[in-house]
Amino acid sequence: MFFHESEAIAAKHPDLLRVVEQVDQRLAEISSSAPLRPGDFSCVLDAEENQVISVFELLATKDVLLAEQMVECERCQNLMSANAFREAVREEDPFECAGCGRVFPKRSPVLRVYRLSAQALRRTKASARPPAAQISKLLGVQASEEPLSDRAQLVLVAMLELDAVDSDRRRSTEEIAIKALGNDADPNALKAVMAELKTRRLIDSKTGRGGGCWLTDAGIARAQKLRNEQKTPQPFRHPSRTD
Ligand SMILES: [Zn+2]
Repeated sequence: MFFHESEAIAAKHPDLLRVVEQVDQRLAEISSSAPLRPGDFSCVLDAEENQVISVFELLATKDVLLAEQMVECERCQNLMSANAFREAVREEDPFECAGCGRVFPKRSPVLRVYRLSAQALRRTKASARPPAAQISKLLGVQASEEPLSDRAQLVLVAMLELDAVDSDRRRSTEEIAIKALGNDADPNALKAVMAELKTRRLIDSKTGRGGGCWLTDAGIARAQKLRNEQKTPQPFRHPSRTD
């Protein structure tokens, strides 16, 4: 198995062997700290969710995974800290989704989700592939590959070049507009493009003071692909050739 911790767990819990092996194999392919939901794994692995949860919990005791309490936005599935949510409820403040701005209902259910720990991440990163490719492989879903408008493509590449790759490195729409469209760009002209990218989950954003946008894992992968395509000229095709 990839993690020696998995071996130790399987040795101690032979009834979980099959699930431990499968989870271990999937975890080995992840090199981002994206939240991992036992329900998604049980679906892909065709294993009982209870068993997946047991394995995740055991991996958490061995510091391969970190367990966190989160609340999930019903509209955009963004996960937010359950502690911050509880505090807002206590203070009777509205608690807004950082992804879409929707206010969480006071009785939102708290989920337990997992992430690879920093030390586990260092070990999986050795065999890194673009994060979106990993997640889509993991969950058996296709990364969004529908064609993007020219402007949307410019924005994605500009955001990659600005290193806006997570919420801590978010950039304002003004900065992105200048990078993508030049110095006299009107950030308002990008509003529709940003909304489109967000609907397609290629970017995420935080509104209000100090807000900004950043690329999601899928957005990073798409931007890298676009940038590579820009660098690699298309093969020359003779104009008279017909197929
Ligand atoms: Zn949301």
